[in-house]
Amino acid sequence: MNVMLLGAPGAGKGTQAARIVEEFGLVHLSTGDILRKAVADRTPLGLEAKRHMDEGGLVPDEVVIGLVKERITQPDAQERGVLFDGFPRTIPQADALGEALAQSGLKLDAVVSVEVDPEAIVARITSRRQCRACGRVYNTVTDAPADPTVCDECGGEVYQRDDDTEAVVRKRLAAYEEQTSKLIPYYAEHGTLYTVDGNRAPADVYSSISTVLREIG
Ligand code: AMP
Repeated sequence: MNVMLLGAPGAGKGTQAARIVEEFGLVHLSTGDILRKAVADRTPLGLEAKRHMDEGGLVPDEVVIGLVKERITQPDAQERGVLFDGFPRTIPQADALGEALAQSGLKLDAVVSVEVDPEAIVARITSRRQCRACGRVYNTVTDAPADPTVCDECGGEVYQRDDDTEAVVRKRLAAYEEQTSKLIPYYAEHGTLYTVDGNRAPADVYSSISTVLREIG
């Protein structure tokens, strides 16, 4: 089963993704995580991506599509299925994903759109923190680690992403409105769209998502 999580920045995709991969055994493919690693490793691709990420804009389609194609052709992705998190974000990316999956005789089985009130998003993102080592997501208000800078799970460093500041968040929201939100009618037309209300506690949001995935899985 191949599933995509769709939603504005701050909709809770990272938190839900962790639960989904645990229950359904999917390979977690987060283009944001892959790009952040490339930035940290200072690869040429990472340096190019960083310019766009720091400004809250999107990394060019061909760069991201190349990364995804490389990952989904690996044996674990083909055998276990993939949870796409933060990809596709544009119509050309969605078209490229459909074609790449079809080449392996696969398809996107479900697109789960997590809908949240835009007013709540800025507050949510600016209180978000993440573990640099294992990627676990925290919230300084609702789900803080015992020590603010140390991950409860792995002892790694808990930090605030450079692009989680208010000015950058507003630009990321604009990019979502202009480009990524167009994927909602796109996937509705392809018959694979499921919508869940993301303005609830993470466990309740997950309960709705897992119900959908158990039905189609
Ligand atoms: P995320 O962690 O998914 O919020 O992604 C963080 C940043 O990485 C985004 O604001 C973009 O600059 C970049 N990015 C991640 N995924 C994509 C994508 N599919 N297409 C273009 N840029 C992306």
